[in-house]
Amino acid sequence: MRAEFSLANLRRNTEKNGKMKSHKWFAYILAGLVGLPLALHGQAPSAVFDKEPACHTLKPASAGGPLPQNPDVLVLRYFSYGNYEVAYRGKVLLLDAFYDNSRSPIAAPTGLKESDITKADGIFIGHTHFDHYQDAPAVAKRTGATVYLGPPGLAYVRAQGLPENQIRIVRGGETIKLNGYTVQTALGIHMATDPKKSAAYQELITKTSTATEEQKKEQEAWKDKGMSNYLHTEDPLDPERDTMYHGTIVYVFTFDSGFRLVYSDTAGVLSGGERALADSIHADGGKIDLAILGYLDGGFSVNTAIRLATTKVKTWQPSIFLPSHHHDGDLLYAWPMPEMPTAPLFEAFREQAPDIRGIEPLYSSPICVNTKTDEFFVGNYVR
Ligand SMILES: [Zn+2]
Repeated sequence: MRAEFSLANLRRNTEKNGKMKSHKWFAYILAGLVGLPLALHGQAPSAVFDKEPACHTLKPASAGGPLPQNPDVLVLRYFSYGNYEVAYRGKVLLLDAFYDNSRSPIAAPTGLKESDITKADGIFIGHTHFDHYQDAPAVAKRTGATVYLGPPGLAYVRAQGLPENQIRIVRGGETIKLNGYTVQTALGIHMATDPKKSAAYQELITKTSTATEEQKKEQEAWKDKGMSNYLHTEDPLDPERDTMYHGTIVYVFTFDSGFRLVYSDTAGVLSGGERALADSIHADGGKIDLAILGYLDGGFSVNTAIRLATTKVKTWQPSIFLPSHHHDGDLLYAWPMPEMPTAPLFEAFREQAPDIRGIEPLYSSPICVNTKTDEFFVGNYVR
């Protein structure tokens, strides 16, 4: 149980929510009087989302599904680990690239293979560990998209035959103007796991695992074959070959409409670069509409994961929050990758960051955002 949880806190939250509700009603009536469009704070799908086929299908835009037709609707989909798809104004951006065909034999399938991906305008890799970018070269070759990634991933994408004109190395601090949007980068820090806590968690899940002996053997074979290829090139003392401190990138996408989205695919501590970029955006009067941030602790300390995420959330101050790397779909991984509960995180937001609305996505569900109002629809029951 979390130390900060108490009945008094709960009561305070309830009172605060009560007050917020009456404010909301006041704003509602006022907006009605002056004929302004209502911002319903994501409670119900508005007519905008009702009319949008992309908001009513599980089929991703990158795999031949519909793109949003309304220029004010942005659609996000989650595919485990750090993988998200963004579809907006005719473009499909892939945030990380790691699909079912590359996942472990015991991972829960997300329903999407690398070979399914036929449309991508840009592939942005948060960091170059295999579970974030293994499928990027294949997808880029098929779609013609450029892959943006930190220096340690260069050898792999080259070895996979990705042409040089589709590789863009980023180190943090870049501002890249693209067609319809601008990308800013900051050097982030990868999650560090205390080996003792990690070992304790691994022991627990090994003991409680329901995997059969055959599944365990399959998993070991997959691990030996696949992972060693991607890890032996790491050298912590060489900035060109170190992912932890030199190859973890945080992206800020500012679309020409003004809508701004932050993306990070690991739950490391807040970096100086992230803070500087967030502060510069806020100092210019800029607003973060949506942030996708890592929510994970390798030793399964929910409190640690909550503290890391809330620190970042307070820095970026997004209107909407989506977690990443919290739902990896395989409980017996090479390293412990626990499933992280979002309820205690969102409850911590109530107390510490009450203006932020957290969303827990299911694989492939459409998360539709009205980029004018930040109103959203969560399509977790779309079939
Ligand atoms: Zn990683």
